[in-house]
This record gives sequence, structure tokens and C-alpha cells, in this order.
Amino acid sequence: MSRVVIVGGGHSGVELAFSLRQLGYTGAIAVLEKSSFPPYERPPMSKSWISGTAGPDELALRNQNAFAQSTIDLMLNCEVNSIDRKQQTVTTNDGVIEYSVLVLALGSSPRQLRITGSELSGLHQFHTLEHALALRDDLARASRIAVIGAGFIGLEFASAAAKLGKPVVILETAARVMPRTASELTASYVRSRHEVSGTDFRFNASVLEIRGQAGRVKEIVLSDGTCVEANLVVQGIGANPNGEWTADLGLNFDNGIVVDTCLRTNDPNIYAIGDCARFVDEEGRSVRLESIGNACDHARRAAAAIANTPVPPIETPWFWSNQAGVRLQMAGRIDRVEDWLLTGSVETNAFSMLGWRNRKLVYGESVNCPGDHVVIRNLLATDTVPTPEKLKPISGMGLKAGIKFLAQQQAESGSVY
Ligand SMILES: Cc1cc2nc3c(=O)[nH]c(=O)nc-3n(C[C@H](O)[C@H](O)[C@H](O)COP(=O)(O)OP(=O)(O)OC[C@H]3O[C@@H](n4cnc5c(N)ncnc54)[C@H](O)[C@@H]3O)c2cc1C
Repeated sequence: MSRVVIVGGGHSGVELAFSLRQLGYTGAIAVLEKSSFPPYERPPMSKSWISGTAGPDELALRNQNAFAQSTIDLMLNCEVNSIDRKQQTVTTNDGVIEYSVLVLALGSSPRQLRITGSELSGLHQFHTLEHALALRDDLARASRIAVIGAGFIGLEFASAAAKLGKPVVILETAARVMPRTASELTASYVRSRHEVSGTDFRFNASVLEIRGQAGRVKEIVLSDGTCVEANLVVQGIGANPNGEWTADLGLNFDNGIVVDTCLRTNDPNIYAIGDCARFVDEEGRSVRLESIGNACDHARRAAAAIANTPVPPIETPWFWSNQAGVRLQMAGRIDRVEDWLLTGSVETNAFSMLGWRNRKLVYGESVNCPGDHVVIRNLLATDTVPTPEKLKPISGMGLKAGIKFLAQQQAESGSVY
């Protein structure tokens, strides 16, 4: 009998299992997950969940019965240690399992500081539910908090801690928040909202050492010689793809398991999806992304390839973050942007930044404008986008209203964008 074995019961692995059933795949499906927790959602952990009282159940990706109802064999506490590509088996802590198709949905692991003091208690990572539970427990007792890294996870955690009335300082090596993942204008707006919540920032700050007292963090020493006091420290300094060990088995690994447009590795019976996969995007460039949108898109396309149905086109990347009362939504590729256009206004706390390359829209981020986010995703999916010159004079009315206005004008005059 054919059997798809999925290693990793996170967002992409679980989405793939259910997508296969939706596509009519009738063979056996097994999801092997090393954690003892049933599959859970990660995004809420760093948002409202960490400062609340909800338990792990509130994070469940699917209800308890869904796996059995879809005859998907979910195996928890099951870690895959090696793969025999010739025999088509995986070895787990629980025995050997045969596969006809293997899908590696291994996710990523948080980068860790390797400096003096990184073994002290009170220094936290924030990636798994195990991390989140330990952190929430510690947060209740902490009186001074430092966050290392002003990326999404660090900022979201800082926002949750500030909401609990805890003093927070964020240390960042770059000169601003979200240095690679948001425009300067949005970054400066988000920073100001955190400051209003009482959070302090230290930019261009490089952490040299963490000093402790009685085995627990006490202060952080920066390269300029200054110290920041904290009895709870969270490191949010990015993540690395899991699965480097597959290189020893002959799979191509280059900062991610290398796959083709159908998410297939250099072994035709093995796929890799989600955070751990380096794939070819619609422009033929090799990329690796860490987002729910990407995990679900990979899962649906790999499922189609495995079930022998047409593989859908690659979805435009999208992302969201909630922090300091700000709702951020992004779509497209910020690394392609050459020019920016602001629509809406910062003063009204609702605006969008459109990113252009050669006058083509390649990216857009919205601040407290969910309607604009929908418009941006639609515009990125079509070729009929108004030129920046057309949009500029009406940018003050906001993107959604501006696009509607231009469409009305177009209908009345019969002209084109
Ligand atoms: C705190 C936090 C907040 C986030 N917020 C957002 C957000 O707001 N928006 C957004 O788009 N994205 C967000 N992300 C990113 C998003 O959660 C990931 O991109 C997504 O989970 C990736 O899915 P995945 O299936 O590739 O990996 P994961 O969901 O990480 O799943 C991988 C699974 O594989 C298991 N595994 C690994 N190795 C083995 C092995 N050898 N054997 C068995 N099991 C194994 C792991 O235990 C894990 O459960 C957030 C991430 C974190 C950590």
C-alpha cells in the first residue's frame, strides 16, 4: 500500500496531510512529530497568548478528532533520526517506518547567543510551546525585561510584557526596528507606538556578555561598555532551517533543503516544505521563507504534486504581526523594493507603504488598514496596477479609496491606468 510519511507536525506538515485527503488521496498518511504536544499554532504564542491565561489547548491547529476522522495517523513523541533512501524507510526513536513518499516538514530552530552567560537561567528562547510555557511562567515573576533583537518575535513579546506593566528594553544591533522586514517609515511608526507603551530601545547595541547572580541573569554588558539590568532576557535573533543532517544522506542542503518548484528534493520520493525548504520562486530565484502563508502554500502545492493533480501557481508571500496596538500586514517581496509611495497618513494611524521596482508594484505593507492589505494582494496578482504617477496625487485618500476613485474615473472616461 502507498504511504506518505510526513516528518514534522507543524503548520506545513499538518496542512499537507489534510490537503492530500481533500485531493482524494486514499493511501496511508502518517505525521511523525517529536513534540509531545498535538500540533499547535505558533503565531498566537508571541501575541495575546503569552500575556494571558489560556492553556496549550487554545493553540490547537485542528480539533482532537480531525486526524482520526481523516484517517491520518498522528504519532507524537516520535523523532526521526535517519532515512534509508534505498529501502525507503525512516528510523525513529520508536522503530522503523516504510514510506512510498517522504515529506520533510522540519521547520526551523531559533539562533542562540553563544557568549559568556548564555547558560544562565532567565535567558529564554521563544520558538516552541515548551519555550512559551517556560517563558510565561517566568514572566509572571520578572521585574525587568530585556529583549535581544527587534524583529517580529522580540517586538511582539515586548508588547505583551509591556501590557502586563513590566519595564522592557529592546536591544538591537541595527539602527532601527524590523531592519530587513519593514520600510523605514513603518518601522519608525511602530517604534513610536512601543515607546508610548513604555518600552525603551537601545539601537546599534551589540551584546557582549550576560552576567548573573546565583545562576540567574542579572545584567547584559554591551560592546560600548554600558550595562542593562534585567532578570528576564528573551533572545529573538532569527532562526536557521532544520534538516542539515539530510546533507549526509545525499540531499542537497544550502541554508535549507533544496527543492524544485514542486517542492521535490534531488530524491524524487522525498519532498521538503515550509521553513526548512529552499525553493525556486516565480522569478526563478532561490529563496527560503518563514511564514504561515509560505508553509500553507508549500503544503498545498506539494500535496497536489504527490496526488498527481495540477500544481497551483506559487502564492504571493504574505505576513502579519500585531504589536503595541498596531496591526501590520505585508505582501510581496520587500527585498525587491527600490522606491516607496505612502498612501493614507501616519497622523491618522492608518496608512500603507507601496514598494516599487522599475515602476512595477512588488510589495506593500499596511498599518491598521486590513482593507488596503486585500487591495495590495489583489494588485500584486494582476498586471493592471495604476502607475505610481497616477496614485501619487490621490495617495492622501488612502489606498482602498484611491483605487476605487481611479476605477470610477476609468469607467467614466474609458481610459486605462
Ligand atoms: C513565536 C512565533 C510567532 C510567529 N508568528 C508568525 C506570524 O504572526 N505570522 C506568520 O506568518 N508566521 C509566524 N511565525 C512563523 C511560523 O510559525 C512558521 O513559519 C511556521 O510555523 C512554519 O511551519 P513549518 O511547518 O515549516 O514549521 P513548524 O511549524 O515549526 O513545524 C515543524 C515541526 O517539525 C518538528 N520536527 C523537527 N524535526 C523533527 C524530527 N527530526 N522528527 C520529528 N519531528 C520533527 C518540530 O517539532 C515542529 O513541530 C511565528 C513563529 C514563531 C515561533
